[in-house]
Amino acid sequence: MKHTNRILRALAAGFCALVLALTTVAPAFAAGSHTLTITADTSGHTYEAYQVFSGDYYKKDDSSDPTLSNVEWGSGVKGENLLVALKDTRWSLHALFTDCKTAADVAEVLTSNPFANNSADLDAVATVIGNHLTNTHSSSTSGTGTQAPFTYTISGLDDGYYFVRDNTDVVIGNDDAYSKFMLQLLGDVSVEAKSDVPTLEKEVEDVNDSTGEAAWGPSADQDISDHVNFRLTATVATDLTSYDTYQFIMHDHLGDGLDFDGAGSVAVTVDGALLGANQYTVVSNPEDNCTFHIKFNDLRTIKNVEDGCKIVATYSATLNEHAVIGEPGNPNTAHLEYSNNPNGSGTGTTTPDNAVVFTYKTIINKVDGNNQPLAGAAFTLEKLYKGESNEWRTVKTFTADGSTTFEFTGLDDGHYRLSESTTPGGYNTITPIEFDITATHDGGSQITNLTGASTKGGTIEFTSNPDDGSLSATVVNQAGATLPSTGGMGTTVLYIVGGTLVVVAGVALVVKRRMAQKQ
Ligand SMILES: [Zn+2]
Repeated sequence: MKHTNRILRALAAGFCALVLALTTVAPAFAAGSHTLTITADTSGHTYEAYQVFSGDYYKKDDSSDPTLSNVEWGSGVKGENLLVALKDTRWSLHALFTDCKTAADVAEVLTSNPFANNSADLDAVATVIGNHLTNTHSSSTSGTGTQAPFTYTISGLDDGYYFVRDNTDVVIGNDDAYSKFMLQLLGDVSVEAKSDVPTLEKEVEDVNDSTGEAAWGPSADQDISDHVNFRLTATVATDLTSYDTYQFIMHDHLGDGLDFDGAGSVAVTVDGALLGANQYTVVSNPEDNCTFHIKFNDLRTIKNVEDGCKIVATYSATLNEHAVIGEPGNPNTAHLEYSNNPNGSGTGTTTPDNAVVFTYKTIINKVDGNNQPLAGAAFTLEKLYKGESNEWRTVKTFTADGSTTFEFTGLDDGHYRLSESTTPGGYNTITPIEFDITATHDGGSQITNLTGASTKGGTIEFTSNPDDGSLSATVVNQAGATLPSTGGMGTTVLYIVGGTLVVVAGVALVVKRRMAQKQ
């Protein structure tokens, strides 16, 4: 019994090391009556239990370690082949098994160092076991429950020591991974299947050139021709060390309105520390219709990449003339491709995460004092850039032709100045009008608010249409008046009347002088 107790202690230590929680162990049952209960964070899996060792399970009371006596090869493994494999000199731990002749001998080795306290070595043994399974196994029920944790049961199991794995012929969905295999001693037990998946969040930087404010979020507004900064934040799975190698590829799709600024714009950090560019490859125009991929070297080989760490990639792209003005904006996505089977190869993907870039336009309609379209004018639009000294930069200058409507497309929020660069003959030039474009938007396709408001100089009123991203306004040219265009007919008439009075006064003076001369 001393012998088997040692075996069982080692096995117990082994599955703890494999991150399995032995939560309950019921008293001994008759053969074939045990149930293995597995809880997991995701549904849609099927687990399979293969008996590695058969024997007699015994547990004296709640405080004692369970034991397995009369150990033989179980029905789930090709025992002789497994024995040969464990002794194979190409395998790192072969020397420990050199003298083994029986299943009981192998169980005895598993009681000894290094297995008792070394999860990696027992993990290695489990890998060898997994390569020598028979077709005899028991499968779990489908996961029950409507939310995590989902419960799977495998019942009708005999006493013994079991290798339990995810059936990888069952295809699992996005944001999921196959569970690490487990070794489990029965009685009735509950275990927690261990699997974790990485996540990826895509964000875009929203910059207001006029105020200098900037913030990361799921949406932003920008000027056409702006270099827009993007950020991909990946959180690495917490079971990275369950994998021998780990594939990690960021997929990014920008859409027609954004041009990737190239590999030179990419920078990557691991928990805030810059990662050498020799640790990843940027692939532009890959075959899967993405804009580019960032393919990392085997994550297990990259220094400082650990369970749960943050890998952040930033890059820039230029908003181009194909950008959609207004809604639904310029949505773009990213997702992660990652190793999803710690027991083999294969990859899964995260659900794509969206970011949206919006841009707007201002439409200026030119009319005369009678609200009729007036040709012959041209406008210049400038934008204020905050810096050490604030600076006006020209957005666009029109040259006068027959147009009466002027569209400034691809505008960000910010502070603007509209001036009349050409004035129709016989009309007075408007006082330059300063105005603000303000907007709010969400990570979906909605511009929740779009407003234009004049703040200085002349006054204009904007009509907002988030659908096409437009702010429209009418600018009036008054004929023959020197007051600002907003003066309206009332003040213009007053002015003309005033001018007339001056003329009348002048005439009166001349008449008086003439009369004086005659006297
Ligand atoms: Zn891709």
